[in-house]
Amino acid sequence: MAYKTVNPYNNELVKSYPDATADDIEKALSSGYALYKKWRDEPVSSRAEALHKIADLLRKNEDELAKTATVDMGKLYAESQGEVELCAIIADYFADHGAEMLKPTPISSRNTGDAEIYHQATGVLMMVEPWNFPYYQIMRVFAPNFMVGNPMILKHASNTPGSAAAFEKIVKESGAPEGTFTNLFASYDQVSDIIADPRVQGVALTGSKRGGQSVAEDAGKNLTKNSMELGGSDAFVVLSDADVDKAVDLAWRVRIYNAGQVCTSDKRFIVADNLYDEFLKKLKEAFEKLVPGDPMDPKTTIAPMNSERAKKKLQGQIDKAVEGGATVYYGNEPIDLPGQFLQPTILTDISKDNPEFYDEMFGPVAQVFKVGSDQEAIDLANDSELGLGGIVMSGDPSRGKSVAEKIETGMVFVNSFLVSLPELPFGGVKGSGYGREMSELGLNAFTNEKLVVTA
Ligand code: NDP
Repeated sequence: MAYKTVNPYNNELVKSYPDATADDIEKALSSGYALYKKWRDEPVSSRAEALHKIADLLRKNEDELAKTATVDMGKLYAESQGEVELCAIIADYFADHGAEMLKPTPISSRNTGDAEIYHQATGVLMMVEPWNFPYYQIMRVFAPNFMVGNPMILKHASNTPGSAAAFEKIVKESGAPEGTFTNLFASYDQVSDIIADPRVQGVALTGSKRGGQSVAEDAGKNLTKNSMELGGSDAFVVLSDADVDKAVDLAWRVRIYNAGQVCTSDKRFIVADNLYDEFLKKLKEAFEKLVPGDPMDPKTTIAPMNSERAKKKLQGQIDKAVEGGATVYYGNEPIDLPGQFLQPTILTDISKDNPEFYDEMFGPVAQVFKVGSDQEAIDLANDSELGLGGIVMSGDPSRGKSVAEKIETGMVFVNSFLVSLPELPFGGVKGSGYGREMSELGLNAFTNEKLVVTA
């Protein structure tokens, strides 16, 4: 039984789940494919009500769902509640706007008659999702594809099976037809087999580069359309005219939220030399105030990491960075609690030849760099094989925007948190993957953009 919930706060094994069988897989594929064919003949708008119902059920069961996520992977209870509410917002948004956005798009064309692009379902979609936002990662794909009419099969992370089962239960309770969404506790080999099945016409993965490469290879072999939402080592650029207090207030929050385990959480802080010392000092003061403890306790402000494996990996990266010449400006002390806690840590003096310079640190560690100009900040921000998001802080929004335009990532926010909302596209470039989730772009990620010309 590879799928288990081990509470990262106290290391207790909460529950193990049975592996998916060949029968489970065939049932998911056949019921999903039958539903795809049925949905093809029904208007998109007929699914809106069920999606609103799912949003209502999420809100109604928020407490239970939030507890399940917190026990699965350790995030603060309030963060889990926020995640459930965000899922409901996403469901409502696509229920309200999906049908309108999926209407055929007319094209003006010479002499061919009336040309239109139809946005039609393609078949069953295989989703492979990570543990860090165990509901939201599913919902980003689920809500748009439910409206499109692509039934879905989920392989969730092996450490968040409770959340996967809870999401499936909500979909079932909503009265959505059989085959809409099947959670399978599947192995990697079973995922490969599912992708090879011709009833599957799309693959969406959020996860690591290694996982993405492997699943994209399977999709490529079968010429199956796929989208990859992979890691990020986003830059948080503080320009010389920025308000330091505002920058620090954003910086500590983005780095610590979800115990730092967010793909779009800024991991590299690139600060203009005139503000560097003050920024570092104030970031340290913010980190010093954080209180580790039970993630269910509202007084706790820093959660444990999601697993022993994740904590060990990050600790190893810190050690390697220090061996390579980095300075621990703050943190890296043991925390006297049984769970997977890692003290928020600030690293400086990370030179380009440091083995960790190009590594994504997926946890509460901030790397801080000093730069002498906007151009130097842009060059350093772009000196990464990843390209997901980023933040630019400036007293002058147009200067911030001109720096944002030169950053090679899929999303950049100026003077703001990088927020994820259903109307905004989410995704990256370079090693952070390809494709977009949410917004109209995400809605059409797995549609057949079919040209129909009527003479
Ligand atoms: P993994 O890639 O290991 O896991 C993500 C999911 O992929 C899990 O369900 C995992 O299953 C599955 N998986 C991994 N390899 C395979 C394979 N060969 N075949 C089938 N399924 C596979 O990622 P991590 O757990 O390490 O998650 C953290 C990473 O995800 C970070 O790099 C982070 O930046 C990135 N991420 C990206 C986001 C984005 O939106 N761009 C958002 C969140 C995280 P199992 O658990 O069973 O191993």
